[in-house]
Amino acid sequence: MSISIAESIRNVELGIRNETASSIPNSKFQIPNSPELLAPAGNFEKLQTALIFGADAVYFGGKNFSLRAYGDNFTRDEIIQAVDFTHKLGKKIYAAVNVFAHNTDLDALADYLKFLDGVNVDAVLVSDLGVLNLAKELTALDIHISTQANVTNWRAAKFFHELGAKRIVLARELTREEILTIKANCAAELEIFVHGAMCISYSGRCWLSKFLTGRDANQGACTHSCRWKYNLVEEKRGGEFFPVGEDERGAYVMNSKDLCLLPNIGEVIQSGVASLKIEGRMKSVNYVAGVVKVYRAAIDSYCANPDNFTIRDEWLDELDKVAHRPYTTGFFMSDGNSTEIHDTSKPSRSSDFLGIVREFDPSTMTATIEQRGKFELGERVEFFQPTGKTFSQTITAMRDVDGSEISVAPHAQQLVTMPIAEPVEVWSLMRS
Ligand code: SF4
Repeated sequence: MSISIAESIRNVELGIRNETASSIPNSKFQIPNSPELLAPAGNFEKLQTALIFGADAVYFGGKNFSLRAYGDNFTRDEIIQAVDFTHKLGKKIYAAVNVFAHNTDLDALADYLKFLDGVNVDAVLVSDLGVLNLAKELTALDIHISTQANVTNWRAAKFFHELGAKRIVLARELTREEILTIKANCAAELEIFVHGAMCISYSGRCWLSKFLTGRDANQGACTHSCRWKYNLVEEKRGGEFFPVGEDERGAYVMNSKDLCLLPNIGEVIQSGVASLKIEGRMKSVNYVAGVVKVYRAAIDSYCANPDNFTIRDEWLDELDKVAHRPYTTGFFMSDGNSTEIHDTSKPSRSSDFLGIVREFDPSTMTATIEQRGKFELGERVEFFQPTGKTFSQTITAMRDVDGSEISVAPHAQQLVTMPIAEPVEVWSLMRS
């Protein structure tokens, strides 16, 4: 059973579809500084999408030493290209180097950190003190402490700051009050996660996957074993599975819901954190575009007029369309109760990603779409634009690159032209 974000938000502890700033203590606000919106870049196309749909900054992993060993990740040539693309837009790019290193990694790490410094990434995200030490010794890179380091108190934050970290990405397992206390006692920039998947353990500091499969979460190879379905087996009765759980649906006792702090974006911004991070380097282009656009709009709207801020239905609807588990505010407004989903571990989504608009010709009102999913004549589709409103239309005609009429676009990355009902921005996503 999937639960919509609207239901999640109503049913879980957080609240309210139409949250206003007046629900936050101290109803008279200064206009707050706009925090950075930081988005995941699992590959170059996702990096471009995140920046074009409104992220101020992106984070990525190279082929080694980040914690997404099974992601696409970036080659050194791609990193150079990514830095160039990001800086031309006046935005920032951070490299995740948050693996827990072994002695045998150190020489290659030193070489990689010098490379990142040479190509001018804006910061490196580290967890391991040895990597921090190497980065300080060999480079002039800004250092951000990864959430993998699990900073949960102001002394730890202050200590990392004194060691040379410019920014601390706090553990996800903190309440708003704890974040405010850390902010009051530590001069480093603070970054918090506002959206995306969570770990049942402290942000990946977990041995479950390694124990069950040999794939180590702390080396970026997690199998998400916490999301599997578990039963009880007595040692002499192999093959007899006794259900464990709170009800008849079984037990996904360690399967965390997804974090969504949109309903509390006012409290998040008022807490004074420097950067709001979206999780999901393994997620799709559709996810990156949708989530980034929603948080961009919410941050801008709140910072422009906090006293009259309202969560818009269209934002909630959009977050419902991207792949997600039921949402929770996690620990931010409470102690993290109601953060697991016990009936399924499968994410739900309500839109399929069909293609990207690569060109639009206003003189003929035709668009060129690069195909990602199968679509055909007569199908109803929507165009999700980087800045403009989403609109829908029926596909009335299609041509391939040779100009021949076609009725279906079956090939991955095939270029297709079609008449378009309204002017459409390049980079818009076509979705079902
Ligand atoms: S198994 Fe689950 S809790 Fe452990 S690191 Fe992987 S995702 Fe996180």
